[in-house]
Amino acid sequence: MRTMGDIPENIPIITQEMMEKTTTEIAKRNTGEKESPMRGIKDIKCPSCGDNTMSYADDLAFDVILSGERIVIPNLTGLKCSKCGEAAFDASSTKIIDSLNLMT
Ligand SMILES: [Zn+2]
Repeated sequence: MRTMGDIPENIPIITQEMMEKTTTEIAKRNTGEKESPMRGIKDIKCPSCGDNTMSYADDLAFDVILSGERIVIPNLTGLKCSKCGEAAFDASSTKIIDSLNLMT
């Protein structure tokens, strides 16, 4: 459905449809359908500070600015350093983030 034909393709627009799709993906993951392969990882070496303080986390959040609007994606899974706060997202979280980054 395209009613704004005079807007060039390369202008990033986040549509309601896109947000709903992302929300659906998050909801799917929250049902435990797919468990993160990183679950259970504990005290591995942090690439940022070098200490063995990186562990699995399921409460990560990712901030992104789209079209001047700040969007926070909550409840992402991955690894987080308890010392410096460095975070690494797992595959399913990265996929959700990428789907937003593609529009920037
Ligand atoms: Zn660290």
